Amino acid sequence: MKYFTINELTATTTGLPNMPGATETANLTRLVNELLDPVREQWGKPVRVNSGYRSAAVNKAVGGAAASQHLKGEAADITAGTPDDNRRLFDLVQRSGLPFDQLIDEQNYRWLHISLKAAGNRRQVLHL
Ligand SMILES: [Zn+2]
Repeated sequence: MKYFTINELTATTTGLPNMPGATETANLTRLVNELLDPVREQWGKPVRVNSGYRSAAVNKAVGGAAASQHLKGEAADITAGTPDDNRRLFDLVQRSGLPFDQLIDEQNYRWLHISLKAAGNRRQVLHL
């Protein structure tokens, strides 16, 4: 955990409880160590997390998918600041060779959804 903190990955503006359990915390730590930190290192500039872990209540409040990987602490919504920068960051992640489960361009690069599981990562790339 070099560039990101658990606090940053569990922050919510909903005002609802959002405390990860041991399993979710372990997943968040893996997400940072094996994906977010290496991506940030290669990018060389700030990357902000808009949403990481979500409790069931938070996920429902923000309209997240029922089976969202955010519920498990396996996903983060990130932004480099602008759609242009997000497009470059998206390309960087694809080229990086780093493991990931899903890399999603959300709403024409308004933000990126990125996820990592303990095993069976698909390196699936989507544009939503
Ligand atoms: Zn997401």
